[in-house]
Amino acid sequence: MKKQIAARYLWICTLLLGLGALSCEIMPDPDQDISDLLEQTLAEDNADLSIVHSCVEKHLEGDDHLRTAALRTKLWAVGQVIRVKFMDSLSSPLRLRIEKAAREWELYANVRLQFVRRGKAEIRIGLSPREGSWSYMGRDALYLDSLSKTMNFGWFTDRTPDYEIRRTTLHEFGHALGLIHEHQNPLQNIQWDVEKVYTYYAQSQGWSRQDVDQNLFRKYSSSQTQFCRYDPLSIMHYSVPKQLTLDGFEVRWNYLLSVEDKSFIGRMYPFKGPRLTTCP
Ligand SMILES: [Zn+2]
Repeated sequence: MKKQIAARYLWICTLLLGLGALSCEIMPDPDQDISDLLEQTLAEDNADLSIVHSCVEKHLEGDDHLRTAALRTKLWAVGQVIRVKFMDSLSSPLRLRIEKAAREWELYANVRLQFVRRGKAEIRIGLSPREGSWSYMGRDALYLDSLSKTMNFGWFTDRTPDYEIRRTTLHEFGHALGLIHEHQNPLQNIQWDVEKVYTYYAQSQGWSRQDVDQNLFRKYSSSQTQFCRYDPLSIMHYSVPKQLTLDGFEVRWNYLLSVEDKSFIGRMYPFKGPRLTTCP
């Protein structure tokens, strides 16, 4: 399947180059929607249930994150410079693609992600393929040993398409800025077909029932709600195949920051005025 995706990506690149595009940047503008051709490619990928790239939130040991109203305390200071460093070796092109994707948050959040090659860094990224992709939440990173990773990208290689680099990087850095998974928003009312979900994640991710409970079914308390409404278009939402819900509800992979993502992060890290912790 990966070969098929790579082949399709190559074909899209070839077509774009043939049309006179200056480079093979499929999504150069944060607000520019993806092309119909790419939509079709992604729709095919969405239809393939074997592709599951689900991130896992990491929490500090002993942090009862689902019961405490702690998430707001995990936010960085407004205007803070957050240093970012790679702990594992990677190619320069891949490094630049990740950096570019992460720094898209700077357009909407008043923080600066400063990528450094050496010295101290608050966010420390690994690329271990055995660990999947995950991130600690916001300032929790400060409580870890300085040699420990605070984030991991488990499926990035030099051949990973830009849209996947962008999606996963935005998602993990969303956690690093303090955002929770949107499908665990207390305002959502997804009618899960529970047993099918357990089976699906056991087969695709190797997750136990406890893992599924933790990463899908448990909701945050309303006092922690990061958004003022449930946003199925959020970059922080898992995809929800309709085969896993009782009423046919589905959420496709979200590849872009949603309007609400941009609005919310702007309220948490405002460029003007105080941080807003209430809904407008
Ligand atoms: Zn996540």
